[in-house]
Amino acid sequence: MQNNDLRAELIRQFPAEVVEMRDRQNEAYYACPTCARAVSLGMDKCVCSQVLSWKNIQQMEASEGGRRKAKLEFEVASDFTSGNCRKCPISYIGKSGTDNVYECPLKLRASCPIKLC
Ligand SMILES: [Zn+2]
Repeated sequence: MQNNDLRAELIRQFPAEVVEMRDRQNEAYYACPTCARAVSLGMDKCVCSQVLSWKNIQQMEASEGGRRKAKLEFEVASDFTSGNCRKCPISYIGKSGTDNVYECPLKLRASCPIKLC
């Protein structure tokens, strides 16, 4: 019996690939492959002492289907404020009925993601 415990303990020290599960609300979460407890993203060890590996999940997220964030830096006028499409260098003039309006190429007019640095 004790030998088995020791063996199980040893096996846990080898990184095991985290598994993706779905809860009752169909929300995805990650779980320890050994004890099935939920683990948070990037955790390197489960509370059951299983060492965790995230390789497959990282690959999955980097490939198609996963969304990534892109960052772009550009200059704006000193009086530009976030959401001010009129002063934004990436906006363009579009038509709304007969009026000219400043359009956002990211379609984010109302929730401008630009942060001034
Ligand atoms: Zn575990």
